[in-house]
Amino acid sequence: MQRIKTLQITDTFLNYTKINTTAVPSATHLPSSANQHILAQIVAKDLMAVGCTDIDIQSNAITTIRLDANKEGLPSIVFFAHLDTAPDHVGDTKAKVVKNYQCNSISFKGTTDTLSVVDNPELLNYVGQDIIITDGTSLLGADDKAAIAASVEAIKYMVEHPEFKHGVITLVLLPDEEIGIRGAKALDVKALKADFGICLDCCGIGEYVVENWYASEAIMTFSGVTAHPMSAKGNLINALIMANDVINQLPVMERPEHTENRQGYFWPHKLAGDTASAKLEIAIRDFDENAFNNRKMMLNTIAASMNDKYGTEHVKIEQSDTYGNVKTGLDKQPEILRYVEQAMDNLDIPPKPLTMRGGYDGSVITPKGLTTVNIFTGAHNFHSVREFLPCESLRMASEMLLEIVSLSAKGDGNE
Ligand SMILES: [Zn+2]
Repeated sequence: MQRIKTLQITDTFLNYTKINTTAVPSATHLPSSANQHILAQIVAKDLMAVGCTDIDIQSNAITTIRLDANKEGLPSIVFFAHLDTAPDHVGDTKAKVVKNYQCNSISFKGTTDTLSVVDNPELLNYVGQDIIITDGTSLLGADDKAAIAASVEAIKYMVEHPEFKHGVITLVLLPDEEIGIRGAKALDVKALKADFGICLDCCGIGEYVVENWYASEAIMTFSGVTAHPMSAKGNLINALIMANDVINQLPVMERPEHTENRQGYFWPHKLAGDTASAKLEIAIRDFDENAFNNRKMMLNTIAASMNDKYGTEHVKIEQSDTYGNVKTGLDKQPEILRYVEQAMDNLDIPPKPLTMRGGYDGSVITPKGLTTVNIFTGAHNFHSVREFLPCESLRMASEMLLEIVSLSAKGDGNE
């Protein structure tokens, strides 16, 4: 049964790609680019046109569009999509549909870049389908406008089909996911009063996240003691040497370049300073909560030992958690993954569970109390001019939302 129409969802998506919502990392306000607010208004208008009235667009572009339950006692579910696109390419998106894709190499005007099965063998899965690409000068922005289109079309379906039973459904549009998950951090999660959330922020059809890692940032500051080099002996304490000392105490094989799969790491990623003072920034990642906490303690221990070695108050450390592992929530609410997996089974989508070495809106929202799984948008090559989206995968992302709602209305994922 096709509830979502391919041509309609493709048009909705193409319309959203016309608004350039590139995030601006240097911005200090939310949203980082004004067009994110404009896109939120366009989405709101699309849903007002079918009768949605409970719409709130905040000045920071965080937008909630709420559809009332049409049956008592069913779970309240939130669809999350982010408004911004990655700052890797800033140009306007010129999207186009390649009809009936036949494995031909697609060349981009004005560049030697191509989209071909040599570099992208996954294209072979979409032979005979329509795929959406760019002209090769910008990213497509299916990350995450495919999620917006899939959510909008699923909500339109529910509005137009009162026989389809559901609890409260809320679409939440978030700004600036790509530059530090800023929108999700600013979101009042408790006010949503929901049972669980679904982000659509994975790639190819069938992908869903079963686990992502914990993340935190440590900032170490070093205060040196300056002295003229001619009389420095016994006096000079060099902040740069102290910073280097810390880096050398971190386990060599636990760096990003030596780790993969479920292995965590320490990543000293920024060092600035001079003899008098220096600042070192270290990213910490781990899938296991104990190992994650041990890493943070290890940095505290190193800082303390540095103060013993060089004298007190030469080294300060501040640590702050960036996001958590969605698994903590998924373990408590096992029905969520059951719905996702049963929905894929019902829709004949081969499941591709992912352990994600990264974060997404749900990894900030889940620790705030609303478990939010991450499923596919259908697009490939996120953050690249070769980003492409098969229309059929986009339709299935939207069907997934309806199927999960439908399964949750039945009470378990096994029916
Ligand atoms: Zn994304």
